[in-house]
Amino acid sequence: MQIADNTAVTIHYTLSNDAGEVIDSSIGEEALVYLHGAGNIISGLEKALQGKAAGDKFNVRIGAEDAYGEYSDEMVQVISREMFEGIDTVEVGMQFHADVSYGPGVVTVVNVDGDDITIDGNHPLAGEALTFEVEVVDLRPATEEEIKHGHIHGAGCDH
Ligand SMILES: [Zn+2]
Repeated sequence: MQIADNTAVTIHYTLSNDAGEVIDSSIGEEALVYLHGAGNIISGLEKALQGKAAGDKFNVRIGAEDAYGEYSDEMVQVISREMFEGIDTVEVGMQFHADVSYGPGVVTVVNVDGDDITIDGNHPLAGEALTFEVEVVDLRPATEEEIKHGHIHGAGCDH
């Protein structure tokens, strides 16, 4: 069996940036299970996994455009402190879920200047090329329900 659309895929992965720093890894933790072809993982990694079989190990470097996107200056905005209703102290590094002009997402406070708060809605890994070291652990056909839902059911599923 090879990875194709509607396959439930279990992988172990280690993710690092071009500086060689490990950003995230499933090694020693639970393997990642995802539904192939449903956009559950970044597009560049999904493409690299297409056609692979259980037991395959490979490395792939994925450019920012196929990972978390290019860094966009438009996603950096200065907003008024009044927007942070009910929050006493706004500090650099705080993260909020917000509905901003480009849609809902997580924003990070990057500067505080009096009542002017600068927020950055870029993904923390935007603009970075990412290298994945991947081991395909297991494959099975997804169930009809999983395909309908667009994700895999099992441990950690809340319905
Ligand atoms: Zn579901």
